[in-house]
Amino acid sequence: MAGLESHLIKQIKKDGPISLARFMSEALGHPKYGYYMTKDPLGRGGDFITSPEISQMFGELVGLWLASEWQRIGEPANVRLVELGPGRGTLMVDALRAISVATPGMASAIDLHLVETSPVLIKAQKKNLKGQKTTWHSDLSSVPDGPILLIANEFFDALPIRQHELTKDGWQERMIGVKDGKLNPVLGDVVRAKDISETRAPEDASVGSVLETSPQTTAIAEELGGRLTKDGGAVLVIDYGYSKRAYGNTLQAVKGHKYTGLLDAPGKADLTAHVDFETLSVTFANAGARTFGTVDQGTWLLSIGMSLRAETLKEDASEHESNEIDLAVRRLVSPEAMGTLFKVLAVTDAKAPTPAGFAVETGHSP
Ligand code: SAH
Repeated sequence: MAGLESHLIKQIKKDGPISLARFMSEALGHPKYGYYMTKDPLGRGGDFITSPEISQMFGELVGLWLASEWQRIGEPANVRLVELGPGRGTLMVDALRAISVATPGMASAIDLHLVETSPVLIKAQKKNLKGQKTTWHSDLSSVPDGPILLIANEFFDALPIRQHELTKDGWQERMIGVKDGKLNPVLGDVVRAKDISETRAPEDASVGSVLETSPQTTAIAEELGGRLTKDGGAVLVIDYGYSKRAYGNTLQAVKGHKYTGLLDAPGKADLTAHVDFETLSVTFANAGARTFGTVDQGTWLLSIGMSLRAETLKEDASEHESNEIDLAVRRLVSPEAMGTLFKVLAVTDAKAPTPAGFAVETGHSP
């Protein structure tokens, strides 16, 4: 046994069991052994594939949506374009290309900020965004104030979660301890329900119910909601998750495009949890912002013009390329693939009308 596992075992033996959130943040972000610190996880040779890596159409449509929000906020001459967890930078490259064709005025207004912790992926972003003035940040707090347009695709699912389970004794946190020299799940002390989360008060739970919370997600939504309210702008969150609060364990480990056990390969597998979009929306709304959706990714992409974009691309494509374009559309929009599991949430300043692709305001208002 080596690497992260023995490091964690040593720590736990010394200080006692750790929360799942701590386990997740070490497994993903430990400077030496963390999953995102050491490799590029995306694509065929990696562990998973994301929408922007499936087709250029995804980033282009996101870019056009951001351009319509830039127009809506009065075409400021200087706007922070921000991406959380930009992966290889593929989405941003495609978005910037679409923006400069459709809305050249916005291209010159953009002040690009990328929030990223992975040295491997920062390197890929630098390569792909060569020529574009870009500032990197390890978290949102150092992104300067001012009108903001922000995209986060498959970012929030990577943030650490905590889990509490209702046992016959009360709510207990699911933690990781050590047994017989190996990492092993244990339950923490009984805690009061109202101490688990301010925004996620547990109701209707029964013995065995698991409640997930993501303190880091909540903190980011509070900060972003406050920025939107003060300076104006829009945020687009795309991720897999549930639109209504629910109980259940959604933490999963994926390695080489296959599920693996949570404790099987710490630091070597991607760990994610489904995003609780209801709590996310409520947090944004409590900070003064306005939320729209969620809508399913498939519905959203089609309503903002994916079919038309596919047809245009196919005009200059070979037969093989045309088939690839059709296949990509199906993967992104069909319910059997990413079309319904993935959801889209828009967040705006309080004055905003309904953004493109969100037929009605179904979210929360301040
Ligand atoms: N948005 C990209 C990549 C998704 S993978 C795409 O759709 O292809 C998750 C991304 O979030 C990676 O870039 C990862 O390095 C980054 N990330 C994970 N945790 C982070 C954190 N706490 N702060 C900043 N970036 C983080």
